[in-house]
Amino acid sequence: MKGKSALVTGSTSGIGLAMARAFAREGADVMLNGLGDAAEIEATRAAIERDFGVRAAFDGADMLKPDEIRRLVRATEDAFGKIDVLVCNAGIQFVSPVEDFPDEKWQQIIGINLSSAFYAIKAAVPGMKRQGGGRIINLSSAHSLVASPFKSAYVAAKHGIAGLTKTVALELAQAKITVNAIAPGYVWTPLVERQIPDTMKARNMTEEQVKRDVLLAAQPTKEFVTVEQVASLALYLASPAAASITGTTISMDGGWTAQ
Ligand code: NAD
Repeated sequence: MKGKSALVTGSTSGIGLAMARAFAREGADVMLNGLGDAAEIEATRAAIERDFGVRAAFDGADMLKPDEIRRLVRATEDAFGKIDVLVCNAGIQFVSPVEDFPDEKWQQIIGINLSSAFYAIKAAVPGMKRQGGGRIINLSSAHSLVASPFKSAYVAAKHGIAGLTKTVALELAQAKITVNAIAPGYVWTPLVERQIPDTMKARNMTEEQVKRDVLLAAQPTKEFVTVEQVASLALYLASPAAASITGTTISMDGGWTAQ
């Protein structure tokens, strides 16, 4: 990936950070994005430059704001001259029975987990067409294929990502731009850790029960996916070997959706 550049939304933590570090390890310049403590983010950015000898920049664009998403894409093009790989990864979760699901949480999840990918793709495609190609990777989820109770907004958004992925792949099929989605099962990240207390409440369970009987109940391997495994798949999808893979959702879910 030497001489290439990657923009990863939501890359201050979890899967996004692992993907940004993997792209940088292979020589790509990376644009980080996401929320968090400014000093910690700067330390993360500086570590990528130091560890991998690439350029790493950060832009705190809010994935709920279309104008900021457009500005982030422009900023990445200005910083590195182009975007070879766009990873739409930012995402949040909220767990509640549908009748109590707060309207603003629905709006936030649809905004961050689905609409931000639309706005980022829309803004990045003209540049990719001009440069004669590109790779778009959306982070979806096993929840783009199957559902779990109490996650109405998340499951709706991830099913939406699967449709967006297919549609844009067809539109760009002859532009040497591939569009795919990675659908992990449960990956051990702050997003998963944070939903444990709400699930404990919603189901009246202990932390261990939530891990074993809820999170890993559907994952036949009984192991969490690792962020490094997801990052390896993203690297593959960005490589020349994956040029003919487009419009698909690739599961990495320990067998969950085989059931
Ligand atoms: P995480 O909470 O560790 O990271 C989420 C990232 O998104 C962070 O960098 C956060 O700052 C950023 N973000 C959140 N709101 C934002 C906003 N308004 N604007 C900009 N950035 C924002 O979560 P993760 O587990 O690494 O999840 C990453 C993606 O992978 C999400 O799309 C998630 O749905 C998906 N996913 C995760 C799992 C899992 O088990 N962890 C499974 C399947 C899919």
